[in-house]
Amino acid sequence: MPESTDSGIRPEQKEKAQAPSGGPDKEEVKRQIQPKAPADHGDQKKGKVEPPEQKKETKPVMKPSSQKPAKAPAVIYKGSGDAKRVALTFDDGPDRHFTLQILEILEKERVPATFFVVGQLAEKHPDILREIDRRGHVIGNHSFSHPVMTRLSSASATRQVEETNRIIRDATGKSPRLFRPPYGAVNKPLIRQVSDQGFHIIQWSVDTRDWAGPSSKKIVHTVKQQVGPGGIILQHSAGGPQLKETVKALPVIIRHLKQEGYEFVTVDQLIGIPAYH
Ligand code: ZN
Repeated sequence: MPESTDSGIRPEQKEKAQAPSGGPDKEEVKRQIQPKAPADHGDQKKGKVEPPEQKKETKPVMKPSSQKPAKAPAVIYKGSGDAKRVALTFDDGPDRHFTLQILEILEKERVPATFFVVGQLAEKHPDILREIDRRGHVIGNHSFSHPVMTRLSSASATRQVEETNRIIRDATGKSPRLFRPPYGAVNKPLIRQVSDQGFHIIQWSVDTRDWAGPSSKKIVHTVKQQVGPGGIILQHSAGGPQLKETVKALPVIIRHLKQEGYEFVTVDQLIGIPAYH
């Protein structure tokens, strides 16, 4: 279920590449997603030049959210570049294997992260969900069954999000406001709908493509290449044996970024929006 894809192109395209089990075929998703892809990963990588839409998005982010979620940027790819802060994000969990290993590493390194969890797994492992929360990490909504949300009816999409929030709330008492669409796939109706439900859509600026099975070395290299102040790093905490490389790379990534003077924060801190309702 990993959603990222790297190729350094648009985030959404990336996510889709790793279609979850039985997921829609990649080509289709690609076609569907491309139109809205933030055509700019490239720019981001080059350096300071941010695509206009991204700039727009980071603006409102600066002020602590208000009661009107609709006023904040609809889709967020990164935080402000003013400070050397980054957010580690892990999608597709929780599970009882990699998620726990990642939690141990984060604990050891004293670094917080944000976990975008899938409702049907959260329902199976509420104790792991509580553990994520107990350790001070933030939990975001990543849909119930990891579908390409843009293909669902409005009612189904709403259920995917609401059901997952209910499960998270039942387990932790907290109701997330951060939503990451599977594969990064969004379109205007979905953005509007999710915003109306009080969520902020969180994409990413650094795509490790860890779901595709790169070596830990390659994962580290990708982070070094793509990271910058305000960066949101996409990795996965469940979804397949290849994630052992994610686990292996994580301490190296953390130490490298610490050495570079980065501070680790959760996504809500990075963008100045409350994590929960
Ligand atoms: Zn995912």
